[in-house]
Amino acid sequence: MSARVLSSCAIHRQRMTETLIERGIQDHATLHAMADIPRHQFVEDAMQARAYGDFPLPIGSNQTISQPIVVATMTQALHLQGHERVLEIGTGSGYQAAVLSRLCRRVYTVERIHSLLGRARKVFDQLHYYNIISCIDDGTVGWPEQAPFDAILVTAGGPKIPKPLIEQLADPGKMVMPVGTQEEQELHLLEKRNRRIRIQSIGHVRFVNLIGEHGWRE
Ligand code: SAH
Repeated sequence: MSARVLSSCAIHRQRMTETLIERGIQDHATLHAMADIPRHQFVEDAMQARAYGDFPLPIGSNQTISQPIVVATMTQALHLQGHERVLEIGTGSGYQAAVLSRLCRRVYTVERIHSLLGRARKVFDQLHYYNIISCIDDGTVGWPEQAPFDAILVTAGGPKIPKPLIEQLADPGKMVMPVGTQEEQELHLLEKRNRRIRIQSIGHVRFVNLIGEHGWRE
């Protein structure tokens, strides 16, 4: 990629973070990570010119890369300090995992569609994001071998929060997940502390379906 294209991407990223600030994102670490990560590399070539707009984009296999404001809202809600092990369900393009990887010790990300994970892994390698570990599986059952996780982010919408994920969340721990119908969901922030669970809604969203044993049927 030429130096001119690269610097124009930097300008677009700067504009994207300005929009995020206007829309209420305050967490410096989240904004910094998103200002830095080349989002265009996570979308198909034909979509690269639109990579920094505040809307979702198709990534193939009927799936989408989430809108930047949604990525920022979900990331900010986890209040990561840098030492955490974070589980993400729904790798998709890999962009959300990349943002998390800048803010925590290690990201464990699970995707059910082989072709998407294959592409995301290539981008992680190209960008030297070595603290992202990924696997192909039904993420609604979590990743028991690697549990517990200090934070969990589910980037597909389900009818309820899968029980295995609540069990695999550390205490204290935070989880964010879209919960609702197949058409629209509330973004739930679940906090586990002293063996108590508190859930609050932090916004309305529209995500693709979480498909699996503890999600929707295919
Ligand atoms: N975090 C992604 C968003 C991808 S869209 C990004 O930054 O691009 C949601 C993804 O969740 C899709 O790729 C879909 O295939 C995946 N998905 C849906 N159900 C899943 C499940 N049970 N386990 C793992 N991944 C799942």
